[in-house]
Amino acid sequence: MHNETPIVRRKSKRIYVGNVPIGDGAPIAVQSMTNTRTTDVEATVKQIESLQRVGVDIVRVSVPTMEAAEAFKLIKQRVSVPLVADIHFDYRIALQVAEYGVDCLRINPGNIGREDRIRAVVDCARDKNIPIRIGINGGSLEKDIQEKYGEPTPEALVESALRHVEILDRMNFDAFKVSVKASDVFLAVQSYRLLAKQIEQPLHLGITEAGGARSGSVKSAIGLGMLLAEGIGDTLRISLAADPVEEVKVGFDILKALRIRSRGINFIACPTCSRQEFDVIGTVNALEQRLEDIITPMDVSIIGCVVNGPGEALVSDIGVTGGHNKSGYYENGERQKERFDNDNMIDQLEAKIRARASMLDKSKRIDVSQD
Ligand code: SF4
Repeated sequence: MHNETPIVRRKSKRIYVGNVPIGDGAPIAVQSMTNTRTTDVEATVKQIESLQRVGVDIVRVSVPTMEAAEAFKLIKQRVSVPLVADIHFDYRIALQVAEYGVDCLRINPGNIGREDRIRAVVDCARDKNIPIRIGINGGSLEKDIQEKYGEPTPEALVESALRHVEILDRMNFDAFKVSVKASDVFLAVQSYRLLAKQIEQPLHLGITEAGGARSGSVKSAIGLGMLLAEGIGDTLRISLAADPVEEVKVGFDILKALRIRSRGINFIACPTCSRQEFDVIGTVNALEQRLEDIITPMDVSIIGCVVNGPGEALVSDIGVTGGHNKSGYYENGERQKERFDNDNMIDQLEAKIRARASMLDKSKRIDVSQD
């Protein structure tokens, strides 16, 4: 029920990773990366499926060897989400996965080596409509750039990126996106800001090697939040030393917080205090788990007492406000006669949220069919 985001997006070119549009106002795509051994096809497919269940748009898979390329072929046949092959240096692997239907190549053209090999990859990508992602990382800059700048700086990261961009420009290939990731929030943010002024291609955002689930999410939210609020960014990945499923959830949470892209429930909950009339924290935690399958964008406010409850409930799809023994219930911003038993809050709320999601889905289908 909250308004659209006030953020104005940077203008960028449109590319497609499989059927997912990137740039030029397309929804910001949430990516993740498998951390299984690619040669373990079963484990990798299973992980990709679990990422799809939480809404991932694009999945990157490391393809370090020709054996992994063969496994990639089998993986690609079994999943529906677009796959990016992550390749360093070996152009033959790039050509091989292109044959196997890869949706995007993450390869830095300048690292491929000889001109004829770069051209072979770029020509192949052009023939098969496969975009490329140039990925710069503050931890692996070219030696001469490191020497020139002494340490990773925004200018150093951007110079590195532009070297690869120039190669693709020279070969008249413009279906690419670029990332300039760093583990330091300010370094990453400044690098993206600088690059955003110099190219029109979509930017893939990330704070690389951000850390564990909690600290990495905080760093990513700050860094990506600054950029996204300025309109910079067309795709993103949260890099966590954690289950990649968490990366996708955090990615959507960041977009949700900025009202850029909604998926699933946006919970509004008070931190609780001695005034709370029911177990707010237990209710929110249980519902977050139980309702992971809901993808309908909805605001649900769960507030422990009347101090802030009615105000939040009035701007939520579903709201509950703690009262003595029984709590006030709101739907679509309107107070309902029905009240909820405080000791059965979770089941009652789950039923109401599911019913509302299904009603919103139905009305959306009717709207679309009448277009
Ligand atoms: S809304 Fe009520 S219960 Fe929740 S923190 Fe505020 S005063 Fe405490």
